[in-house]
Amino acid sequence: MMAAMNKPGREPIFIIAEHNENKAKSIVFELATCADKIKQYCPAEIKIIILGRGTEKLSSEIAQKTGLDAISIEINELALYNPEIYKTVIYNLAVEYSPSFIVAGHTPRGLDVASGLAVRLNAAFIAGVEGLGEEGGKICFRRQMFFGKIDAHIAADSEPLIITVQPGSFVPYKPDNASPGKVETRRVEYAPEFIRAKGIRSSKFQDSSISKAKVIISAGNGIGGKENLGLINRLAAVFPGSAVGGSRIVVDRGWLEYRQQIGLTGAQVSPDLYFACGISGASQHLAGMRGSG
Ligand SMILES: Cc1cc2nc3c(=O)[nH]c(=O)nc-3n(C[C@H](O)[C@H](O)[C@H](O)COP(=O)(O)OP(=O)(O)OC[C@H]3O[C@@H](n4cnc5c(N)ncnc54)[C@H](O)[C@@H]3O)c2cc1C
Repeated sequence: MMAAMNKPGREPIFIIAEHNENKAKSIVFELATCADKIKQYCPAEIKIIILGRGTEKLSSEIAQKTGLDAISIEINELALYNPEIYKTVIYNLAVEYSPSFIVAGHTPRGLDVASGLAVRLNAAFIAGVEGLGEEGGKICFRRQMFFGKIDAHIAADSEPLIITVQPGSFVPYKPDNASPGKVETRRVEYAPEFIRAKGIRSSKFQDSSISKAKVIISAGNGIGGKENLGLINRLAAVFPGSAVGGSRIVVDRGWLEYRQQIGLTGAQVSPDLYFACGISGASQHLAGMRGSG
């Protein structure tokens, strides 16, 4: 069945919240804006799903900031992200609520959860959504294809529809004078059968300059070779406190270090000024620097 426009709201829109040690990631509030836009076409309640250990405070903060209801699932075994627990617990919740849409970040974690859920729920899945609107009576999601050469508009004919949203595509949700959403807290015990998270080892590079710099000069494939990085460094030297970053190709070639990679699978930055030198602007790169300027 098509995600019908303006049908009476019954099945909720789920947002899968992401957090780092019980601090909400900015993508949560962008997903709330996206879900709110979906709601304009397909009226339904929005529920933010928050999994973790000791997430009560975080859940209240998110419900307070967004005015949206949250389901907070306390799982003692979730001190660290565990894909098995996330997918199984959210799958069970989806079976219980039959959501019309499940909205997650187009981030490593969001993609992991969303794609796994799509398989388990036999659901339609649109990855890398950057916008949405109405076309021919259907809700249509916009995403780039072929490295940004094609702007695809995709509608799904079945429910639930699972989407992942490119970071930076929607402004963070800021409702006017919203009263705090309700938080329903549940406790789940789950002994993972297949996956155990053993710990996180931090990179030996603890360079925060790229995330704090007010000006970033980034190098892409178009600079032609490592020997031309000197030009990038000279430009960086013009701006005190600036940092040098790069696209994934440049990092994969070893011209820059991974900590300097900007994008979906690298750092997310928001300097006042961002120079992209010889960078094509693939969506995966834009995902890391859209908040600039
Ligand atoms: C799952 C996944 C995750 C990814 N994560 C990231 C990520 O985190 N970060 C990231 O950057 N990419 C990421 N990518 C890769 C991304 O899709 C692109 O391939 C990459 O960003 C392209 O890098 P680029 O723009 O430097 O190179 P190209 O796409 O090769 O672009 C080079 C640009 O330089 C221009 N150019 C050429 N010569 C000159 C010249 N003389 N002067 C000026 N301009 C010139 C060209 O016209 C072109 O626009 C990811 C891809 C996938 C599939």
